[in-house]
Amino acid sequence: MPRPIEALIHADALTHNLGVARERAGGARVWAVVKANAYGHGLERVFEALRGADGFALLDLDEAERLRRLGWRGPVLLLEGCFEPRDLELCSRLNLWHTVHREAQIDWLSRHKTQTPHRVFLKLNSGMNRLGFSPTAFRSAWARLNALPQVDEIGLMTHFADADGAAGVAEQLASFESATAGLPGERSIANSAALLRHGLATAADWVRPGILVYGSAPDFPAHDIAHWGLRPTMTLRAQILAVQSLQPGDAVGYGRSFVADQPLRVGVVACGYADGYPRVAPSGTPVLVEGVRTRTVGRVSMDMIAVDLSPVPGAQPGSEVTLWGHGPRDSLLAIDEVARSAGTVGYELMCALAARVPVRMA
Ligand SMILES: *Cc1c(COP(=O)(O)O)cnc(C)c1O
Repeated sequence: MPRPIEALIHADALTHNLGVARERAGGARVWAVVKANAYGHGLERVFEALRGADGFALLDLDEAERLRRLGWRGPVLLLEGCFEPRDLELCSRLNLWHTVHREAQIDWLSRHKTQTPHRVFLKLNSGMNRLGFSPTAFRSAWARLNALPQVDEIGLMTHFADADGAAGVAEQLASFESATAGLPGERSIANSAALLRHGLATAADWVRPGILVYGSAPDFPAHDIAHWGLRPTMTLRAQILAVQSLQPGDAVGYGRSFVADQPLRVGVVACGYADGYPRVAPSGTPVLVEGVRTRTVGRVSMDMIAVDLSPVPGAQPGSEVTLWGHGPRDSLLAIDEVARSAGTVGYELMCALAARVPVRMA
């Protein structure tokens, strides 16, 4: 028998969540963001469920090739653009749209030999200070691009730093509007948080939802997935391998970080940090046993974690443990709650699902 742990990918939920993005987007077209191997879900696994997208946005050329191999003929956008000149050859061969965020990428394009001109998105740094031309350099970059025979239509894009937080999008939106005023071309600005929280104000021609498609709320705990009408797309579940009965003063796990102050049954679960469960998740992180909510106790080790069985006296080796996602009898543990306990975000947990965990479509 294989080790009793597996991840489930919920295809219906992916399709449903994409529908939520589409509703929020009004008439805008939707890039389903599938970078990082579809946020850890597996590009090949999510493809059919997300086929209804207008395009796919990602970063790795290898992932773009995989999408084409799956038979996707529609738009594919490289969110970081080309990393070196010869990447342009792949863009020509696979008809990839690419982001242009610095001068060198324009130089490369100007020397690139291609039969068909490329669709590009020119990126504005509207305040996040990650990628993009500054507002003062933006128009001259546009003019340079526009003069190249290698370039077809030029889209205009930017990315928000705090669409999920207090600062919101107003300042960056104003910067984008003034930098792009009067320029032709399609606009693309909204990530999940902008789409959910700021809606049509940021929708433009193309929106770029990622995390919402994967059933995590970008602004948790202010809002949870139920609030946004999203469904979990990944379940991580395992079984109890052994049960220990602790007496007051007994510890569990490395470093004896958890010590029982009363008699306590604990279940030892076949999931650890080598499966992608965060090692930093402290005692008290929520978990479901047979669909009943309880907590982890002690340190997460490489292959195991211990859980408090007091609320589930019937639990025994073989009992089902839900680390996140759907549990038995309609129970649910949002990945965002586990992430929060571990001091991180749902994005990181889903992306970190380890290669050794078998994955099934559900
Ligand atoms: C990752 C990414 C997105 C999607 O962001 P989410 O918060 O997952 O919706 C959109 N645009 C760019 C440029 C990105 O890098």
